[in-house]
Amino acid sequence: MHKSLIAAAAMAAGFAASAHAQDLTVGVSWSNFQEERWKTDEAAILGALDAAGAEYVSADAQSSSSKQLSDVESLIAQGVDALIILAQDSQAIIPAVQAAYDNGVPVVGYDRLIDDPRAFYLTFDNVEVGRMQARAVLEQQPTGNYVMIKGSPTDPNADFLRGGQQEVLQAAVDAGDITIVAESYTDGWLPSNAQRNMEQILTAQNNEVDAVVASNDGTAGGAVAALTAQGMDGIPVSGQDGDHAALNRIALGTQTVSVWKDARDLGRTAGEIAVALAGGTALADIEGATKWESPTGNEMDALFLEPVPVTKDNLTTVVDAGWIAQETLCQGV
Ligand code: BGC
Repeated sequence: MHKSLIAAAAMAAGFAASAHAQDLTVGVSWSNFQEERWKTDEAAILGALDAAGAEYVSADAQSSSSKQLSDVESLIAQGVDALIILAQDSQAIIPAVQAAYDNGVPVVGYDRLIDDPRAFYLTFDNVEVGRMQARAVLEQQPTGNYVMIKGSPTDPNADFLRGGQQEVLQAAVDAGDITIVAESYTDGWLPSNAQRNMEQILTAQNNEVDAVVASNDGTAGGAVAALTAQGMDGIPVSGQDGDHAALNRIALGTQTVSVWKDARDLGRTAGEIAVALAGGTALADIEGATKWESPTGNEMDALFLEPVPVTKDNLTTVVDAGWIAQETLCQGV
């Protein structure tokens, strides 16, 4: 698939693949590059661009949606031929998509929805990630008080995840087996905010909490820190991303599941799609693209990759896939 994407781009532009792609520059606008997973994504994007002979330029918005707008403007001013955008705020980013469109620069909405049909949407199935998180926690803790630590309110993934979680938990809620006693968004997905929210929830609930459905590994880390301070570490906690710290928590028993989304696949695919789009391929002609309706009714060209839940039982999956070295995983595996 990947070679053919690049070949399609080259054919559309009427050049041989190598000769054409060498002239291309792809700009990547990161929202919060300090988070562990994005370094893996970047390496994979770079690999795909290198293979196509394309250049890479980037900017990090440092969790500021206004900085991200000026970042994208500056990438456009640098003459990029395509943009890959990890949006900090799905609404605030729309003027950047408009600017790209006005300059004839195609956009890949990376991992998070940019709710504008002019952007290609490349992501994992985030509703399924949410289901996997809740399923693993429910299996370990089928009764009691649940806390939902959600993602950033400006990231549509937060609600996709929460929706998937609810689908799985609903029957247990209806049966009275579990009670969702509290939930909170986590501004900027920052672990420190998740920790503070979890501390406040524990205080309000007199520590009567039996399970935490946290939406990613960073927020899981914050929740586990709050639980540890109360001597409650070890109750079920979910996450996602396969962060090394989280995989180690799974090995040690303080986190139940990390839904692993192989960022190497997402990054490589994004690099290849960006090159194809820059070469003139239409969004709908990207190999593997499907039509998907956004929550506001936009018909998007999209591609969804499959997530994999990782628990103590299948930790070897990430070792075998070369995601983490056995010696990096702590004892107990
Ligand atoms: C991504 C997660 C990530 C989170 C925080 C979400 O949109 O899908 O993988 O952990 O953002 O950066």
